[in-house]
Amino acid sequence: MSEPRIALSDLSYGPEEEAALVRVVRSRWLTTGPEVDRFESEFAAFVGARHAIAVSSGTAALHLALMALGVGGGKAVVQPALNFVAAANVTRLVGATPRFVDIVGPDDPTLDPVAVIEAAEGAVGAVIVMHYGGYLCRIAEIVEICRERGIPVVEDACHAVGARYTDPRRGSLDGRMAGTLGDIGCFSFFSNKNLAVGEGGMVVTDDDGLAAAVRSLRSHGMTTLTWQRHRGHASSYDVIASGLNYRSDELRAALGRVQLQKLPGGNARRAALADRYRSELKDLSGWDVPFANYVGDSANHLMVALAPDQARRDRAAAVLREAGIQSSLHYPPIPSFAAFRDFASSVPRTDSFSARAISLPLHAGLGDEQVAEVCALIRSSSAGAR
Ligand SMILES: *Cc1c(COP(=O)(O)O)cnc(C)c1O
Repeated sequence: MSEPRIALSDLSYGPEEEAALVRVVRSRWLTTGPEVDRFESEFAAFVGARHAIAVSSGTAALHLALMALGVGGGKAVVQPALNFVAAANVTRLVGATPRFVDIVGPDDPTLDPVAVIEAAEGAVGAVIVMHYGGYLCRIAEIVEICRERGIPVVEDACHAVGARYTDPRRGSLDGRMAGTLGDIGCFSFFSNKNLAVGEGGMVVTDDDGLAAAVRSLRSHGMTTLTWQRHRGHASSYDVIASGLNYRSDELRAALGRVQLQKLPGGNARRAALADRYRSELKDLSGWDVPFANYVGDSANHLMVALAPDQARRDRAAAVLREAGIQSSLHYPPIPSFAAFRDFASSVPRTDSFSARAISLPLHAGLGDEQVAEVCALIRSSSAGAR
């Protein structure tokens, strides 16, 4: 397939990223070192967490979060059926069982707190929430439900870097950033995310014990890093648990530091474009845009619209493709995948959402006129159709 004329997402990269890479290459130190240390402390300050631990991907972040919490065999992990498959995969990799729960509805496609209450029975190792498209889920209610039952909350905040929570009840989580609302938060810096380094991620937490466990498990369960031994700060190490190599490196950390500087501006541009999409699609009969009455600062990772039905969604996608415009689906319900058939549960609101949803181009470099063109094509694809 040829390059799309209007891509779903794009990097906002420039001379600053090039300079950062040159600086690292000239330093002659590539693996975890001072750039990673700085990226971690700058990221921790940005989100307002005590600890930030840079890792090799969002998937690694989620895997380490479950390992650090000691979630393992015989435990269930309650999580949304509407998510990228990474959280469900790592649940099975630690030996636990995914328990898929429905979304609130078409206007709020995040984990339903009422369904969490029903699912939080028996041996539950963790509840994983996801802030769909960069919009915070009903996290204050979910945290309260989990605290009462002693269940830790993991945030899959991969869509939500830079999003700030507004609690409608003005509780203690009001005003905090995504990733710092549960016990442990996970971010991805994959190349299509709002903060992009290629492959990368971050774990954040206020809990010293969890942070120490993630730090050690990130690097084979060893007590010191090559950098510390290189600098003479340590000469030996012990292995205190069986870990992995999920470290970041200096090149990605240097890119991440530049991208973190650009993030507030990029997210503001995404918000303006999302507003434009919303007003263009407002009076398109039968179409909806989720989070219509959302209160709070979204990271606007995705621009999702809901067609009246699956046929008109598929027709819109075909018309856009014909015009060289990329669209996508976030996501097929996880229980519909072959590997998860044994974990199927009834999630009718997720099924209906996935049948109607289409993700439209959204990135900081997109032009207003491109939004207008996408919306005009959707309007024409839906006109007169039944
Ligand atoms: C991207 C993403 C992940 C996985 O992150 P990787 O860095 O690609 O491993 C997990 N969950 C969600 C919601 C994501 O968007």
